[in-house]
Amino acid sequence: MALEDFRPDMERCSQCSYCKFVPLDQIKSRRFSKGCPSIAYNNFNAYSARGRFAVALSLINKESEYTEKVQDIVFKCCLCGSCDVADKICRYNLEPLQMMHELRTRLVEDGQLLPQHMAIIDNLRKEDNMMMEKKANRGDWAEGLDVKLITKEPAEVLFHAGCRYSYDKALWPTVRNAVTIMKNAGVNIGIMGNDESCCGARAYYMGYHGEFVKFAENAIEMWKAAGVKTVVTSCADGYHAFTRLYPRLGAHFEVLHTVQYIERLINQGKLKLTKTVPIRVTYHDPCHLGRQGEPYIPWEGKEKKIFNQVVVYEPRKPRYNGAWGVYETPRNILKSIPGLELVEMERIKEYAWCCGAGGGVKEAYPDFSNWTATERIEEAKSTGAEAIVSACGWCERNFLDAISTAGDKMQVFDIVDLVKQAMQPARRKG
Ligand code: SF4
Ligand code: SF4
Repeated sequence: MALEDFRPDMERCSQCSYCKFVPLDQIKSRRFSKGCPSIAYNNFNAYSARGRFAVALSLINKESEYTEKVQDIVFKCCLCGSCDVADKICRYNLEPLQMMHELRTRLVEDGQLLPQHMAIIDNLRKEDNMMMEKKANRGDWAEGLDVKLITKEPAEVLFHAGCRYSYDKALWPTVRNAVTIMKNAGVNIGIMGNDESCCGARAYYMGYHGEFVKFAENAIEMWKAAGVKTVVTSCADGYHAFTRLYPRLGAHFEVLHTVQYIERLINQGKLKLTKTVPIRVTYHDPCHLGRQGEPYIPWEGKEKKIFNQVVVYEPRKPRYNGAWGVYETPRNILKSIPGLELVEMERIKEYAWCCGAGGGVKEAYPDFSNWTATERIEEAKSTGAEAIVSACGWCERNFLDAISTAGDKMQVFDIVDLVKQAMQPARRKG
């Protein structure tokens, strides 16, 4: 869709400001009642979905021009989708998140580029990753694992490590554990090693749509050539790309997040969690596995007016309010670990507060990103948990950085780390 296709949404925003908060009936305290990190941090209306609708309308009406402030407003947003969930309460089923993606794409097409993003995209073009690293080192995380290289030997299941896990050494145990668990359970699993490339999702989030298409088409072609049937990833961004963005480009693979594959193995009796892990944890829903992880088919209907007044959609426009994201699977796994106590934060599932690593803000606005993660750690601490657990390397890295900045004692785990611990002792990340 083009930015102009969202004109009706821009014009119908009722200025109610629901997009700034967790829906009223879900609020448990004033302290944790906010939903949008961008407006909470910047405290100015333009930095909300409501404000961005107004900015976009003004731009397409040619009533305003690009300025540094406009760039700041457009890019200082985690694209977490909390506003999109809140917006589904509204009469018109508005889609601010899709509009904001289109707005970024428009700015990039018009040469309104953030220098921090440009450097990363430049490296992506040369080295196929978003971490400013070398392609030749991409497969180092799997050294000594004795796992098939899918380009040399066929395997039914491809494990995609993703950029963050491939290059962030502190997070290597998570992906090594994931592969080991699946291999030991008899799964015919392979990886791509140095031939794996970025999924393209984070380029898409930064507004570089062309880069995303290039990387997605390349991945689809390689998977087809290797005879892959199922793709598994521990990265929530990758999961989002493979389930929601790739199908638009003709991908038809089974895609599972590692937690979904682990739950399958537990249900099949191929994985048993028997060792006690005496720890109190709270679970952070990654935005791209949670509210943005629900099945999504872009609506391509028409709207019409009854009595020239009441707007209706034909065919009926689905309300994607995030309710069908991957929420129970991670919780089921955690609850099946002997001795582990799961305590919930106030904002969970489709109402979860973002970790602050998304939408290119960790790269361009590290202070905002760190503040957003610190807010989440404060919420986690309020539960009395000793550790915050998640299922995405980007969330885990941002939490580790925020904890280190604040000198906090909260531990960070991926679910896979705790699963491995319930099978045999595992080490804490740092
Ligand atoms: S919730 Fe939707 S309609 Fe209300 S102000 Fe925000 S964007 Fe506008
Ligand atoms: S995507 Fe997240 S940070 Fe951006 S406007 Fe919506 S709620 Fe705020």
